[in-house]
Amino acid sequence: MYLFEPQARPALTVHNDERLFPIRQVYCIGRNYEDHAREMGFEATPEAPFYFLKPAQSVSQATEIPFPPGTEKLQHEVELVVALRSGGHGLNVEQARESIAGYALGLDLTRRDLQKINRDQGRPWEIGKVFDHAAPCGPLHLIEQTGLLTEGPISLTVNGETRQSGDLNQMIHGAIELIQFLSTLQTLQAGDLIFTGTPAGVSDLKPGDQLHAQCQGLSDFKVALGISSEAP
Ligand code: MN
Repeated sequence: MYLFEPQARPALTVHNDERLFPIRQVYCIGRNYEDHAREMGFEATPEAPFYFLKPAQSVSQATEIPFPPGTEKLQHEVELVVALRSGGHGLNVEQARESIAGYALGLDLTRRDLQKINRDQGRPWEIGKVFDHAAPCGPLHLIEQTGLLTEGPISLTVNGETRQSGDLNQMIHGAIELIQFLSTLQTLQAGDLIFTGTPAGVSDLKPGDQLHAQCQGLSDFKVALGISSEAP
């Protein structure tokens, strides 16, 4: 018995399937494409990935989302999202491959100004990455339909203009390697999502912008930014 009725569990729709994918934890990998690491002023570091979390509640399939409050520099990061149907600790290559339920296309929206200010002050930069609707996503495609996704174009247009254009084969650490890496540090579970990093071309967004994310083999999706931070 709960003190009050708990919220429904966040979930992703599944392409050509009535069932929903229940979301547990959302891992986001940083600087996983060399060109993006460079545009952010860093050298790519192939040795070890790093990551942060977004709340499952920040995953959104709304077609219009409010422009987030508190920022003058909202930026887009289009990313391949890997969804897990099983987990564990210390997974080997085979177990990591078996853990993949499928893929979606996602946006790691970022309040870059808040991220940088807090990072430079030695504070957690979480508020740059965590807010309502901070992780728009398309539908999940099951791996039985897609096969392993290791190459293919991924892109984002804003108001019809291409801003990001890359290829999944440019990822420094591939999905299986990332799953193995994460599983050395905590126990992965069914329902986990992994945002695998963004190619170059991140840029500023303004209220009213229309975003269109595309990746070969996955449903594209569109999301519009509201003109204020009020929910549309
Ligand atoms: Mn990202």
